[in-house]
Amino acid sequence: MLQQTQVKTVIPYFEVFIKKFQTLESLSQAKEKKVLKLWEGLGYYRRARNLLATSKILVNKHNSKLPKCINEIKTLPGIGEYTANVLIALIYNKPTLAFDGNVKRVISRIFNVDEKKFDFKNFKNLNTKKLFNTKRNSDLVEAIMEFGALICNAKTPKCIKCPIKKYCKFFKSPHKTYKIKKNKIRKNVNIFCYLSKNGKIALTKNNNVGFLNTFNLPQIENASNKKTFKDWRLLSKYKNSISNKKLNINLYYKFSKNIPLNYTWYSIKTYKDFMPSFTKRIFRQVSVLF
Ligand code: SF4
Repeated sequence: MLQQTQVKTVIPYFEVFIKKFQTLESLSQAKEKKVLKLWEGLGYYRRARNLLATSKILVNKHNSKLPKCINEIKTLPGIGEYTANVLIALIYNKPTLAFDGNVKRVISRIFNVDEKKFDFKNFKNLNTKKLFNTKRNSDLVEAIMEFGALICNAKTPKCIKCPIKKYCKFFKSPHKTYKIKKNKIRKNVNIFCYLSKNGKIALTKNNNVGFLNTFNLPQIENASNKKTFKDWRLLSKYKNSISNKKLNINLYYKFSKNIPLNYTWYSIKTYKDFMPSFTKRIFRQVSVLF
């Protein structure tokens, strides 16, 4: 659930989910529709499908236990290098690190190496024994993630109160290889909704934003040309974030019988299931026009 999604968003979903499925066996026997329903609003439904598929494999082939071999864990649906390393450390206390953005940043800073050129292979070449010598490997994996989120964060690392600053080459060095990222700039986007008088909205996968492209969305453009806006009426302006993208949205609409190719009509009332919250918000707003 936490892939691409913040903890505070996940918590209520997680609580309902584990109440419904209290054991791996009960999840493995669940219908996909029921699992997707509980996932509704979290988005990235492939995670739910993979979770269900993995539960079935674990129950049927591995006696309801996670395999102890990392390569075997990686064969499970939706589990790649990162998740496999987290699982093997948390469940079996194996010595490893799981490289997400936070961990990569922390290690790159401690050794003052270029984050872009940094991967698991060159991590092994670094002299990490002094710093990462522990029998509490599961705690270490979690601690470094938290440390990256709370202390050694992307934009304002709290170096002065950092408990490991005496080991940190970034802190000591006047030549900092690791560059602190600047705040992401908000992007202005215009969303154009074709509406029909009988309560329908025309959606297309052919949007040019490059995210959520498996879902239908109204056409979105970064247009500055006045001609683009001809015949369109502004419905609202609001802020919306998707993953790490921050958007200033201008929502336009027009009633029209004709829609371009690649568009399909959807009923505002009935097309609700498994819709990303980004699109749901648009639906909510245009529904006041009918
Ligand atoms: S001293 Fe600063 S850069 Fe180094 S690990 Fe601590 S918080 Fe990160």
